[in-house]
Amino acid sequence: MTKDHTATVDLLLTRIDWLVLCDADMTVVERGAVAVDGGVIVDAGPCDALEARYRAREVVRLPGHLVMPGLVNTHVHAAMTLFRGIGDDLPLQTWLQEVIFPAEARHVDGAFVELGTVLACAEMLLGGTTTFCDGYFFEEAAARAAARSGIRAVLGQGVLDFPSPDLKDPSRARARVEAFLEAAGSWPETLRPSLFCHAPYTCGPETLRWVKDLCRRRGILFQIHVSETRWEVEEIERKYGKRPVFHLDELGVLDSLTLCAHGVWLDEDEIGVLAERGAAVSHNVESNLKLASGMAPVAALLRAGVPVGLGTDGCASNNDLDLFSEMALTARLHKAVTGDPTVCPARDVLRMATVHGARAVGLAHETGSLESGKRADLIALRIDQPHLTPLYDPISHVVYAARSSDVNHVWVDGRQVVRDGQLLTLDVPEILREAERIAAAVRSDTHIWSDGSGNSV
Ligand SMILES: [Zn+2]
Repeated sequence: MTKDHTATVDLLLTRIDWLVLCDADMTVVERGAVAVDGGVIVDAGPCDALEARYRAREVVRLPGHLVMPGLVNTHVHAAMTLFRGIGDDLPLQTWLQEVIFPAEARHVDGAFVELGTVLACAEMLLGGTTTFCDGYFFEEAAARAAARSGIRAVLGQGVLDFPSPDLKDPSRARARVEAFLEAAGSWPETLRPSLFCHAPYTCGPETLRWVKDLCRRRGILFQIHVSETRWEVEEIERKYGKRPVFHLDELGVLDSLTLCAHGVWLDEDEIGVLAERGAAVSHNVESNLKLASGMAPVAALLRAGVPVGLGTDGCASNNDLDLFSEMALTARLHKAVTGDPTVCPARDVLRMATVHGARAVGLAHETGSLESGKRADLIALRIDQPHLTPLYDPISHVVYAARSSDVNHVWVDGRQVVRDGQLLTLDVPEILREAERIAAAVRSDTHIWSDGSGNSV
């Protein structure tokens, strides 16, 4: 980043039809270019100016493409790709208690998490997601997977007051978390540790306090599912006499490095508290719809200034990791819900999927926009296609018309990881074969399929 910006750089992406920067002004450049050196964006703007200013070791000409920041998936349980499509069409509590928790107890180990996360990374990178924020178990294995794929990630080790796949005795949670943070010390710069308390109804006040204290001391992101269902709000009110956000606030859990996943059942006062504390919300529209959890008050959150990112949630409640479809649905759904077509305009939704998502996961200074000084996380979409022609407004197209399958090239940290729609870092056919091998064990598990709760295969 301290190299000479006016001479030779590592990489120049140029002759780009449309460049969408996702900076504060949501600048769009026609015939643009991006200069990258040492994994960092040194310049982005009109291609004539940049071609005159920089010589590059590698020049990539991108006519017929739109280049924009890689997308940020703010809430994932990546390894759950291996549970894609089990337990469809059930309410959240039934789905969790009768399908997902038993399946996790019987199948999830380090090898499962590494393979499931590799599969997730392949899906995400090919679909234009360059950063994800995970919350699961065996996160050291998730880190190995993310490192292999070349993706950027914030990896949250799960904490519950109940036995979990990687901790049968929850009273040993502190030691487990310390071991995780110790391991994270040797991760590459593209991977950051985080801690993930599952929910206010699975983590008691004491757990929430010490986990957040530890996050604060280490300067890392604290994640938690909050107010996903009406049941949860009633349960927390019954137990603690207050709504979930007030419960968390009283415990000192909410600040600008706190990410609340879902936030479906928030009232106006709770939204005010989140805004005041600077806590972020991950909006998971497809998961919320599929589990009939409800509709998050996204328009009110944005009005209050709460940072809102987009997330897919785990694959078993979605059933994919596609942020293009999350953008398209977010932009449309909240218009219908509020009866106001000006709500969630394309610009705001694209910000959620990029720069606001980066802010929500604690990476505001590193990714989410194409601005000098940020790490070079970029995607190039092929726009010379019937469903993207003609193009009057590139931002409109990204949100309302583009598909994840339009992503043709991807760079993370200045390194190309997808070229011409092919993943360069992983052997995809081999991953699919391995996934099928684990699926065979899940498919033959009568504990999941025979109790009437799992859907038929
Ligand atoms: Zn979740």
